[in-house]
Amino acid sequence: MAMKSNAPLGHAVVAGGSVAGLLAARALSASFTHVTVVERDTLPAGAVPRRGVPQGRQVHALLTRGAVGLDGLFPGFTDAMTAAGVPSGDAQADFSWFLDGRRMAEAASGLRGFGISRPRMEEMIRERVRALPNVSLVDGTRVEGLIVDDGRVTGARVRRHTGAEEALPAELVVDAAGRGSRALSWLRAFGHPVPERTAVRTDVVYVTRHFAQEPGLLDGRLGTTVVPFPGQPRAGVVVRQEGGRIAVLLAGLLGEEPPTDHAGMIAFASTLAAPDAADVLRSATPVDEAVTMRYPESALHHFDRLDRHLGGFLVVGDALCSFNPIYGQGVTVAVMEAELLRSLLKEQGTRDLAPRFFAAAAALLAEPWSLAVGGDLRFPEVEGERGPQDAEINGYLDRFRAAAAVDPVLGTAFLEVANLMAPVGSLFDPELAERATRSVAR
Ligand SMILES: Cc1cc2nc3c(=O)[nH]c(=O)nc-3n(C[C@H](O)[C@H](O)[C@H](O)COP(=O)(O)OP(=O)(O)OC[C@H]3O[C@@H](n4cnc5c(N)ncnc54)[C@H](O)[C@@H]3O)c2cc1C
Repeated sequence: MAMKSNAPLGHAVVAGGSVAGLLAARALSASFTHVTVVERDTLPAGAVPRRGVPQGRQVHALLTRGAVGLDGLFPGFTDAMTAAGVPSGDAQADFSWFLDGRRMAEAASGLRGFGISRPRMEEMIRERVRALPNVSLVDGTRVEGLIVDDGRVTGARVRRHTGAEEALPAELVVDAAGRGSRALSWLRAFGHPVPERTAVRTDVVYVTRHFAQEPGLLDGRLGTTVVPFPGQPRAGVVVRQEGGRIAVLLAGLLGEEPPTDHAGMIAFASTLAAPDAADVLRSATPVDEAVTMRYPESALHHFDRLDRHLGGFLVVGDALCSFNPIYGQGVTVAVMEAELLRSLLKEQGTRDLAPRFFAAAAALLAEPWSLAVGGDLRFPEVEGERGPQDAEINGYLDRFRAAAAVDPVLGTAFLEVANLMAPVGSLFDPELAERATRSVAR
């Protein structure tokens, strides 16, 4: 039966206790009497990588929009990061950016960047969700499938680490199981239609290694990002992190694969536009081994296009849409989806929640997806639909990036978009267009 907007909602189950699942639980806790987060892994006590989140060993950027959203969901979050020793600074003045091989002009952008590791970020979110009185975290337990009655979800089937199976009755099940989500087979099991999927293959390979911070490295800056571009499918990030560490990420796409041995990493880093990664590799003391992770393709599931929704079932986070990690968007998008879920529940409860959520999530995802895919499609090797106006748009953005090396205002505008604080369309503002033309002509 459909809920009235002001009726108290009973129990919700979230499958997956990583960032998107925890944030969804935070959103649900405002409307449901109880929320159970079911996580397959046994959760660690501290900020350490774990099996179910292999990307946790790789460098993660937290975009400014994500940090702002975390403060909204958990007041004081960014202050707590600082108190926990997470370095932060201005995303433009304290970071060096290399776009298409040129260094962006420096300026204070007003955008805040953080050097936080993925495990620490998850742990900080988990601590806050654990503290919510109506949320339980059940770890070492896997969601096996849905329980459906009369065309809507009435619960989830779970398997404990002991092998015991159990039914968890719930009015809502949210799948936040990441890229390995079984949502489509869960739907098929009940003869439900499954959504179309758009994939963009870039074959990204990440290699991350951590080092002890030493004075003099990075000239006191927080970090450096070298963005890949057509003809140079290699990228690098160096960033100070909590715990007195510096993380070095080398990335390749479209067949480029960073090595993991010390000499090979230095050789790879030496081909990047900025010297910082090679400098750190040469002079700093490693504190762990280099770890590789492959990310073959980005994927967007079009649940919004389904004719028929399974009532009481939502999909969030990487299970719904996973982005080329180079753009650092996944966590921020999970934050935005949690904000959306919270406001949809507040407005109209669970009435038609699935179609309302998937339609609004598709609108929310359109911007970050087009930003990432637009960047990927600059590489002629990447397969995907290119529109008739793309060449003109890309030509303009090429000039814009080149001009950002001279005019810091353009760099700030670019970073506002990259940090999901402004829409891509803002880069086409006539005043910025004129500045871009003027700077390139110089
Ligand atoms: C190499 C790489 C680099 C990235 N870099 C960035 C970055 O710089 N910035 C950024 O914002 N994002 C980045 N991302 C994306 C980011 O890691 C994710 O968007 C973020 O972790 C949220 O993902 P999620 O919670 O949806 O899924 P995941 O983090 O993948 O977690 C899924 C969880 O579900 C659990 N699970 C799976 N199946 C079940 C089941 N049946 N029952 C119960 N539990 C289950 C898993 O154990 C896991 O805990 C990167 C991703 C990759 C791969």
